[in-house]
Amino acid sequence: MTTASSNASTSLIGHWIDGHRVDPQSPKTRDVFNPALGQVSARVALAEPTDVQAAVASARKAFPAWAATPPLRRARVLFRFLELLHRHQDDLARIITSEHGKVFSDAQGEVARGIDIVEFACGAPQLLKTDFTEQVSAGMDNWTLRQPLGVVAGITPFNFPVMVPMWMFPMALATGNTFILKPSPIDPSASLFIADLLKQAGLPDGVFNVVQGDHHAVQALIEDPDVKAISFVGSTPVAQQIYEAGARHGKRVQALGGAKNHMVIMPDADLDQAVDALMGAAYGSAGERCMAISVAVLVGSAADQVVPRIAERLKQLKVLNGTNPQAEMGPIVTAEARQRIAGYIDIGINEGATLLADGREFKGAQAGEGCDNGFWLGGTLFDNVTPDMRIYKEEIFGPVLSCVRVPDFASAVQLINSHEFANGVSCFTRDGNVAREFGRQIEVGMVGVNVPIPVPAAWHGFGGWKRSLFGDMHAYGEEGVRFYTRQKSIMQRWPESIGKGAEFAMPTIR
Ligand code: NAD
Repeated sequence: MTTASSNASTSLIGHWIDGHRVDPQSPKTRDVFNPALGQVSARVALAEPTDVQAAVASARKAFPAWAATPPLRRARVLFRFLELLHRHQDDLARIITSEHGKVFSDAQGEVARGIDIVEFACGAPQLLKTDFTEQVSAGMDNWTLRQPLGVVAGITPFNFPVMVPMWMFPMALATGNTFILKPSPIDPSASLFIADLLKQAGLPDGVFNVVQGDHHAVQALIEDPDVKAISFVGSTPVAQQIYEAGARHGKRVQALGGAKNHMVIMPDADLDQAVDALMGAAYGSAGERCMAISVAVLVGSAADQVVPRIAERLKQLKVLNGTNPQAEMGPIVTAEARQRIAGYIDIGINEGATLLADGREFKGAQAGEGCDNGFWLGGTLFDNVTPDMRIYKEEIFGPVLSCVRVPDFASAVQLINSHEFANGVSCFTRDGNVAREFGRQIEVGMVGVNVPIPVPAAWHGFGGWKRSLFGDMHAYGEEGVRFYTRQKSIMQRWPESIGKGAEFAMPTIR
């Protein structure tokens, strides 16, 4: 899919450096598709190290003035950005639908969850307020500062081209850093739209930059000594690689990885509610959410009630072009992803799982006019999935739901705690003690009780455990503030309180 710049009829999506759109220096590009139609809609530049260096140089130049800007004035820029985001929420959602494929209402929801983080970041003055101890020793005070790191970078996945960058840059900018975004080349347009809104909001040139590209751009960011921290969100193998490479280059790294999220349904749950929740969480956004439910853990008698209902509901699932207001599920993001997911359906059959609905039977023409060549798959349902199967162990990242039957609550917890991924999890029950024990015992970063997709609110922070997150701190929230700042402790006294003579013993509190 990487091509020389021969196809002159499609527009070229370039970088944003020093407050302006910049034509790429490299002839390397990649096609950008409308996945519903299967057509090339544009080409995106793939940065060379020189493009990355230009962005880093701009961010480095802008850093001292932005870091010295009072937090309230930085917040005012974010407030203006917030107003512009509200005004252009649907424009951004349309861009998401056209390049990612998710249905328009889902794309609107994505932008709304990004806006939440900007609102939180507008509280920068309060978030950066630190502690102070008067009279830590006689005549001496001690306080803490949190200061920005410098130039920081964010590398983001295809599945949330607006929300995931907004987990990062509002926090980074509010705390006084300058930022370089390397979006997914699959859906790059939203990044430039955002850059333009930030400029309109009054953000000084160079404080926010965008470099389009692939792993070469990422490599250049990791190797650049002026980049002090990297936030990454994407698949687990890449997250681990970036975490380790970043650490080798002395950077602070937060790398959020893949997932295999379970939903436990207890026999006492409100099964209508549980089935509704499971449908939305498994098939919404074509299962391409890092918090999508891909495994239903059906406890005892719940299985025989839930499985047939899901199979029945799948027959009515409205798989349509995301621009259609009736759509519940859109296409898969790329032809390659579609092929990978279809391959997992074969794997599941060969492993002996019971296939109750086969998404491969869905044809693009059913999704609407012009969709014949789009990247379409219907919802898929497997029953009798067991923990040794690849379709259970591996992240499929598509509209494929696996049902695992377990005898009791303890087996459900043990199953989930044995999985290598630990991003999100949910339990549907009416029993308060089950809910309480679930929250206590489950070894997963984000937990929902009767909540299928427990993406934490802006001030609570987002992150999984185990191989779903490499690094110590979660994204956004107060951990986001800590990630983008470093602590400095200051002890101070004045001549009136300093005694005469040199002290050679370890200073102690007096
Ligand atoms: P991906 O790992 O393929 O790509 C993510 C980013 O890394 C992109 O910007 C891409 O250009 C870059 N990249 C890809 N390969 C690279 C390499 N070898 N070296 C350096 N950079 C590289 O992920 P994706 O397919 O875009 O997104 C889907 C994945 O992201 C899923 O695994 C999903 O679970 C995960 N995800 C996780 C979270 C979370 O919060 N844990 C959120 C969203 C998505």
